Amino acid sequence: MTGPTIIDRVTARRVWDSRGRPTIEADVILQNGSIGRAIAPAGASTGSGEALDLRDGGSTLGGFDVNTAIGNIKSVISPALSGLAASEQTTVDQALLKLDGTENKAHLGGNAIVAVSMATLHAAAQQQPLWQFLLGDKPALIPLPEIQIFGGGAHAGRRVDIQDFMIMPVGAASFAQALEWTAEVYHSAGLLLSDAGALQGIADEGGYWPAFQTNEEALDCLVKAIERSGYTPGEEVAIALDIAATEFFHNGRYHLTLDNREYDTDELSELLVRWIERYPILSIEDPFAENDTTGMQRFTQAVGDRIQVIGDDYLVTNAGRVARAAREQACNGLLVKPNQAGTITETRTALEVAHHAGFSTIVSARSGETEDVTIAHLAVGWSAGQIKVGSFARSERMAKWNELLRIEEALGASAKFAGISALHLD
Ligand code: PGA
Ligand code: ZN
Repeated sequence: MTGPTIIDRVTARRVWDSRGRPTIEADVILQNGSIGRAIAPAGASTGSGEALDLRDGGSTLGGFDVNTAIGNIKSVISPALSGLAASEQTTVDQALLKLDGTENKAHLGGNAIVAVSMATLHAAAQQQPLWQFLLGDKPALIPLPEIQIFGGGAHAGRRVDIQDFMIMPVGAASFAQALEWTAEVYHSAGLLLSDAGALQGIADEGGYWPAFQTNEEALDCLVKAIERSGYTPGEEVAIALDIAATEFFHNGRYHLTLDNREYDTDELSELLVRWIERYPILSIEDPFAENDTTGMQRFTQAVGDRIQVIGDDYLVTNAGRVARAAREQACNGLLVKPNQAGTITETRTALEVAHHAGFSTIVSARSGETEDVTIAHLAVGWSAGQIKVGSFARSERMAKWNELLRIEEALGASAKFAGISALHLD
């Protein structure tokens, strides 16, 4: 169905995420009968500056239920959006912000707002694939994937301090080949772990939940997995880390519990620089706590010409914070999570400010995910260059990878795979 995209009503229902927790699916229903649909994801290692996930609290479902937020969509958001055009995303998002009226979307719930904002985008695209609707006539860039192999931190009972040990198939010629290489490395890593008796299970994002003795053992094992799969570490397959350092920053010090060591900012920086020198690492996310600007600055100045320094909790997909980080040279890349910002418009603005500053950008999923594949389309439609959706297992992750395969196939000869150029390191 095509034609005008006037919103008739918005509805929502409770669905379940990959951690078995309730989340919100929103339907934006147009007067012409077509429906845009999206599901809110949820983080576990969240930045304090993120849009607030509104949960019911109380004793049922661990306090994670979302009835209040769903009620807000039905009784407050739906009447206010009725009559607006879904194609006017900025107008819709401004209406949502005005209705909420708080800095962190605590009134209606960031989870309610992001589900409606993303569903509006889908409604506006109507019959067109979302990536195509967003891209228009611009040339398409298929993102370089960052894939988790070992999960740690808040996603794996803190068995390892570092949250994500990931790979980037920087030497692959296409997205399809990047995933093929990933599959080999993922399975090699699993075999190495089980041979060593160090396989505890699967972490929140599908990566192995390892029982390593030190954080460096994880890096050694990852290099071995790359080599065992027949790839050259660094050239064909590089390593990316999400330190998620806020999670182990207490009383002014960084505590690497597994290594039985604690560090101040300079000492942690020295450790990470040593890792960059010893291992084929090309990207580090949140190397310091969300308020440790000095650490971020010194580190970026020391290694920012060699690796990507990504702000996730540090930037929380906030355009103002991105602009400030660019001025202060506190990082050189942005993790783009729509539910941190809360609306599509704010997310896109943060990405544009990042591109303007010369930052690289990685569109990212959350640790609590669903079958919703919106972010795969955003990564292509917004020419982000990179995408991070967790590991190479569990269908809430594979759904995104597989959707990108379909997009690459649909683009045919005009598909350009971002590869290492996406890191902006030259
Ligand atoms: P989260 O983790 O979704 O639990 O915040 C993802 C990340 O830190 O990148
Ligand atoms: Zn992160």
